[in-house]
Amino acid sequence: MTDSPPIKAGALLSIDLDALCDNWRSLRARLPPGAGCAAVVKADAYGLGAERVAPALYRAGCRDFFVAHVNEGIALRPTLPADASIHVLHGPHPGDERECVRHRLVPVLNSLQQLKAWQTLARDLDTVLPAILQVDTGMARLGLGPEDFDGLVSDSEALRGIALKFVMSHLASAEDQGSPVNALQLKRFREVLAHLPGVRGSLANSSGIFLGDDYHFDLVRPGAALYGVAPVAGQPNPMRPVIRLQGKVLQTRHIAAGTSVGYAHTWTAQRPSHIATVAVGYADGYLRSLSNRGIASCDGVPLPLIGNISMDTLIVDITDTPEGRIAEGGLLDLANPWHGVDAIAARAGTIGYEILTSLGQRYARHYVGDGE
Ligand SMILES: *Cc1c(COP(=O)(O)O)cnc(C)c1O
Repeated sequence: MTDSPPIKAGALLSIDLDALCDNWRSLRARLPPGAGCAAVVKADAYGLGAERVAPALYRAGCRDFFVAHVNEGIALRPTLPADASIHVLHGPHPGDERECVRHRLVPVLNSLQQLKAWQTLARDLDTVLPAILQVDTGMARLGLGPEDFDGLVSDSEALRGIALKFVMSHLASAEDQGSPVNALQLKRFREVLAHLPGVRGSLANSSGIFLGDDYHFDLVRPGAALYGVAPVAGQPNPMRPVIRLQGKVLQTRHIAAGTSVGYAHTWTAQRPSHIATVAVGYADGYLRSLSNRGIASCDGVPLPLIGNISMDTLIVDITDTPEGRIAEGGLLDLANPWHGVDAIAARAGTIGYEILTSLGQRYARHYVGDGE
């Protein structure tokens, strides 16, 4: 338990903007001179609050931001100075092109249709519009496929009206350094660039940065690693942890051996036990798959979650903490630098990304530092 300020919410989510910005700087430090380091702040900066995260990264020196949807870009625009570029990974849906121009969003064009619509608008406005072109090199998710791309490069007028900032692609298996898919995608991406002389390239996400210089090109697009997620599977995490989650204790009680706990009685005390009910549940993104698997802690002592997680509460076995240490109104750690998003994800059967983006809207949020 910690002596944090009293909160009315069920938990306190602390977000360390200094650690976030250190992570951005340490990723940038891995790049060759001339290569830029963007920041992916889609999904509300992976759940951590884009309107706080993006300006902090801007102060650290970041100028290129990526969101997924046009409406995310519109919301982000007023939080950033005019010289920040906001790129929209999904590009505009038909009819949204003018909104992009109005809010100075740079679309990632993922299909010939999106390219054509952007060119039509450029012609109507009698201007040249900036864009990124995405080419699929082996993920089969977004971007021009090989036929579309071949057709494009054989037509000298194909990019008329477009100021092509970058051509980009996305890696499917970058966190697995042993995967042959990485080298295959790199080879295809180089072929793509060879057809577009003078155009800058962007391939790597967080994990891609750790595949080495060959993958860096002119702009890297980290997201998860900024927020503390380990970029390389099976290796120590070089990133600083960014979040701490502390749940508020609602009640404690002593129970006799043989007492069952929570919905469906999936846990039964084997000894006389002391237990605490904490005001965090699956409605807060504390995944129900952590029932009987999750871990809380107090003073660094791990304490097991017992029974099924409810919508608004979970229950922790605090028998091994000194009597009186944990009381109503106190806070128990649910995520901290010693038990971070990747460790929680492993127990929940998912990835750190999902733990972060599930973080609930009911938490009291406390931003630490300012990234300076
Ligand atoms: C989400 C995303 C990223 C960021 O990926 P991380 O693995 O979080 O670093 C980069 N590029 C594209 C196209 C994405 O969709």
